[in-house]
Amino acid sequence: MPEKSFDINFFNKLKKPLQKNISLRDYSNFRIGGKADYFFEATTVDELKKAILLARQYSLPYYLIGGGYNILFDDDGYRGLIIRNKAQGVGTRRREEIEALSGTSLRQVLQFLTENGLAGLEFLAGIPGTIGGAVSSNAGAFDKSIGHFLSEAILLDKKGEEIQVRKDYFSFSYRQSQLTEKQAVLLKAVFKVQEGDKKKVQESIEKNLKIRKGKHPSEEVACAGSFFKNPVLSDGKKVSAGFLLDQAGAKDLKVGRAAVYRGHANFIINLDRASAKDVLLLAQELKERVREKFSVELEEEVIFLPAASSMP
Ligand SMILES: Cc1cc2nc3c(=O)[nH]c(=O)nc-3n(C[C@H](O)[C@H](O)[C@H](O)COP(=O)(O)OP(=O)(O)OC[C@H]3O[C@@H](n4cnc5c(N)ncnc54)[C@H](O)[C@@H]3O)c2cc1C
Repeated sequence: MPEKSFDINFFNKLKKPLQKNISLRDYSNFRIGGKADYFFEATTVDELKKAILLARQYSLPYYLIGGGYNILFDDDGYRGLIIRNKAQGVGTRRREEIEALSGTSLRQVLQFLTENGLAGLEFLAGIPGTIGGAVSSNAGAFDKSIGHFLSEAILLDKKGEEIQVRKDYFSFSYRQSQLTEKQAVLLKAVFKVQEGDKKKVQESIEKNLKIRKGKHPSEEVACAGSFFKNPVLSDGKKVSAGFLLDQAGAKDLKVGRAAVYRGHANFIINLDRASAKDVLLLAQELKERVREKFSVELEEEVIFLPAASSMP
């Protein structure tokens, strides 16, 4: 239970001031969002833990982000504290096992694997964001997901305690883990890898990047990746949301300054200065079209963060 109501002075314990009125569009790849009342960038695990514990203790609504590649912020910003996780570091734990702090980018992890000739995670090449964001959403590509390779992790749990857990704690499924439901924050994760050949790891990464280049918008495009999850039909088959959207005529749709990406119907892009409202209205239209044509209900993969909300 929170003990005291919020007073910014309590956050002096962080030794680094909370920033005020920070524009969230600079922290989301969608480049959309109003101002957050408070903002804190944690560069160590200790800072990350302290910021979360203080927010919980003083009833300040908070939300943790990694790279902001899967998030749509509200036009009204955020009434509370956005904590950005930049606690980074990756290394070998023991033979064929690596460990990474949750704010480490997937790109940094892949660079480490290439330099050390460690194989197995090359499918992550080109997925932007941090280890924390990737584990939280069980990110993946080419029919592989990060959760499959995670062996154990250190979390800050609901009670504010640091705990060590094994893979089964997460109940990983398609683009899902139980982290949010369990009100836990990932601090560090350990992954199984295999000893391999540096050149082969590099080649495999480059091959994956090349395949993605043909299908995904380039890095300069403001978006948050696939907007919807691929739905599972009543016969148990998984179908591409992009295919259904394409068939439903999505590629010509636009609301305000938000549009469907011509190269892939499951990407909503910000043409320039789109509002979150534009994106949400367009998403609603896309869902309706697919519902009408295929009787399939699409589920959002991108997370919309309303201004008045908090981490569970
Ligand atoms: C061009 C593009 C291509 C993409 N391609 C793919 C793809 O191929 N496959 C795929 O799976 N995704 C893809 N994505 C989506 C995105 O890259 C992933 O979801 C990624 O894992 C997001 O990481 P992030 O650090 O940016 O998370 P954020 O967007 O910052 O946060 C996402 C969620 O993770 C939670 N979170 C973040 N850190 C922690 C933590 N330490 N502990 C607990 N929860 C945490 C946040 O609270 C939030 O709920 C793509 C996105 C873009 C823009």
